[in-house]
Amino acid sequence: MVTQSVASSSYGNDLLTAPRSPCFCSNTNLRRHYLSKMDILCPKCLALHWMEERLTKSSRSSPVFGTCCLEGKVKLHSLITPPPPLEALYDENDDRSKLFRSHS
Ligand SMILES: [Zn+2]
Repeated sequence: MVTQSVASSSYGNDLLTAPRSPCFCSNTNLRRHYLSKMDILCPKCLALHWMEERLTKSSRSSPVFGTCCLEGKVKLHSLITPPPPLEALYDENDDRSKLFRSHS
């Protein structure tokens, strides 16, 4: 039965005593990856994506996405308007409505 904790293992001690560097992985071939901004709109449903999420068959100049709407194949109905008492809880600014929204 192995009961050695991470702090007392050689791996854990290396982590605790290793000199700090700007990048933990600086001694390996790993490099920090930056995803850039998630500001690319799906042309079909306007969901936000990272460029790297585009389908491989699409280009960077005309990206197409599949994880949101399957290239526009999935279309959801608009949300129905709730009954007036419930809609008021979402729209009003009174104490009761604020309490309702704090739990939703
Ligand atoms: Zn989409």
